Amino acid sequence: MSDLTGKLKNSVLKLPLLILVVSVLVTIGITYNFYQSSKNKDTVRFNNEVAGIQSKIENKVDLCVALLKGGRGFVESTDNLNRQTFANYVKSLELSVNYVGVQGIGYNKIILPGEKESLEAQMKDEGYTDFKLFPESAGSAQQAIIYLEPLNEKNKKAIGFDMSTEKNRREALERARDTGNAAASAKIFLLQEEEGSDRQSGFLIYLPIYKSGSSPLTLADKRQNLIGYIYSPFRSRDFLADVQEDASNSNVALKIYDGDRTSENILIQTDQSQPANFSEQIESKYEAQGDLNVAGRNWIISYSSLPAFAAQSSVGWTPLIFLSGMMFSLLIFGTTYWEASARAEMQKIAAELFELEKQKQNLLEKEQTARQSAEQANKTKDEFIAVVSHELRTPLNAIAGWARILRAEDLSSGTRKLALEKVDKNLRLQTKLIEELLEYSQIISEEVSPEKKPVFFSEVFEFACQQISEPARDKNVEFVKQSELNGHIILGDEEKIKIVLNNLLSNAVKFTDAGGRVEAIAKANNGNIQMIVKDTGKGISPQYIPHIFEIFNQHDNSTTRAYGGLGLGLAISNHIVKLHNGTIEVKSRGEGKGATFIVNLPHQIQ
Ligand code: ADP
Repeated sequence: MSDLTGKLKNSVLKLPLLILVVSVLVTIGITYNFYQSSKNKDTVRFNNEVAGIQSKIENKVDLCVALLKGGRGFVESTDNLNRQTFANYVKSLELSVNYVGVQGIGYNKIILPGEKESLEAQMKDEGYTDFKLFPESAGSAQQAIIYLEPLNEKNKKAIGFDMSTEKNRREALERARDTGNAAASAKIFLLQEEEGSDRQSGFLIYLPIYKSGSSPLTLADKRQNLIGYIYSPFRSRDFLADVQEDASNSNVALKIYDGDRTSENILIQTDQSQPANFSEQIESKYEAQGDLNVAGRNWIISYSSLPAFAAQSSVGWTPLIFLSGMMFSLLIFGTTYWEASARAEMQKIAAELFELEKQKQNLLEKEQTARQSAEQANKTKDEFIAVVSHELRTPLNAIAGWARILRAEDLSSGTRKLALEKVDKNLRLQTKLIEELLEYSQIISEEVSPEKKPVFFSEVFEFACQQISEPARDKNVEFVKQSELNGHIILGDEEKIKIVLNNLLSNAVKFTDAGGRVEAIAKANNGNIQMIVKDTGKGISPQYIPHIFEIFNQHDNSTTRAYGGLGLGLAISNHIVKLHNGTIEVKSRGEGKGATFIVNLPHQIQ
């Protein structure tokens, strides 16, 4: 039962645990997958964002270069270029609407020695009353911004400035001149910028203008024919204003380096809004770098994701998904465990019921066996009473018959003698039967051992053999006795031992037909006195052997009727032998094959 309970407990846990392990593994798998795909999505999102910004900047640069080319075309095609025509042209472009971040379009003129005075006079004519070329320089040729539209307060500050006097500007001017293409300057601060918190760095893009009608191919030609530049000044942050519509809420921060990545060279930085600890959250930070050719200069644009970008990421859901999965797994485990326990409990109850049913069946069988043996005992008893009545009546009938004959007057002396003998024989038979009955009731009621005295077994054996030899002879049964004993003693009740020997010998003679043989052997064997009674008589069937020593038991009533007897002798003998701590057993090879009874009684060593 406890084995069963153990097995049930094991099987109760098996399935729920398996389900738990599987669902935890599935949860881990789903969580990992979710995390990976969220990361992938973020990477794609970031790359798209970067590509979008990069192409916007590129387009913007291209647009500005195109704008300058338009300006150059205007200058080249205008015969009588003056401040008014230039201002009208720039005004028609509506820079503040169409070209956000372009501070203006300017014209930078080459002034050969000797042209300075006439230029100043021309400028004054066109309305620049305080026009002055600056800074002062004693060199051969000079340059000056003569127009810069729209001419607001800031732009005014640049009018008259010789840009070739500043290193970064000069480098760009020369490159534009020598290549004939647009050339951007390195990082500069515009003259228009005032010192202060709003001060932005900036850059310029120049486009060379050569003498009208000339198309210089060689470097020398280009230098020779250069008359000026059309250019635009840019404030870096304003330039990017429409690239990132709302920089304060953007997903990506930008840093634009001019040339190489050194902090001094930085053109634009838009990541002011990053929290101090954001860069430590490496997990949620993405970075990328792009190169851009801006009118001959190499810009390096470095991108990094901002908190707003991370906020849109689904990576943050990963722990929640894992927790939900784990909770779901536990829930499934709980319900399957509860189910399995309930099932196991039911199985246990069913097993207990089965066990009870088995016990009930056993009890029923025992009760049936007991009833059957009680019925059998009852039947045996009834049969025994019938046998006893019959056995007692037989000699009585004979006595009554012979007594009636004796009463006749004309009875011959021979008949009288025979009648008396018959009466006497039947009386003895009757007495023997009654003695046997008394003996039985007396012996069977003795539970304790009889009072034991030393008995010379050979004497008892001799006596019993003597008693049987006459009936054997009468029946024409050969009787042989053989004794190896010599003064062997047993402790016991002599009279009772005689009963045993007498029973066995008289049975042997009784159940052996004329011409048969009965053998009685007495010997010492392993500390016992052994008596063997062997006959060649009717034998005993194997089925009857186990019951032969039971009380009221006769193998076959019909046979017994033929042989007479009450069926008590062997039961009495068995009882007596046991009271003497001995054993009695029977062997027979079957019906008609004779029987052997063996009695062992403990030998009293003197
Ligand atoms: P009884 O001899 O008075 O019938 P017993 O108790 O002595 O009673 O014997 C019981 C039965 O055992 C007999 O009825 C007989 O069937 C069987 N039996 C006993 N001894 C022998 C024997 N030597 N050979 C064959 N059967 C025997």
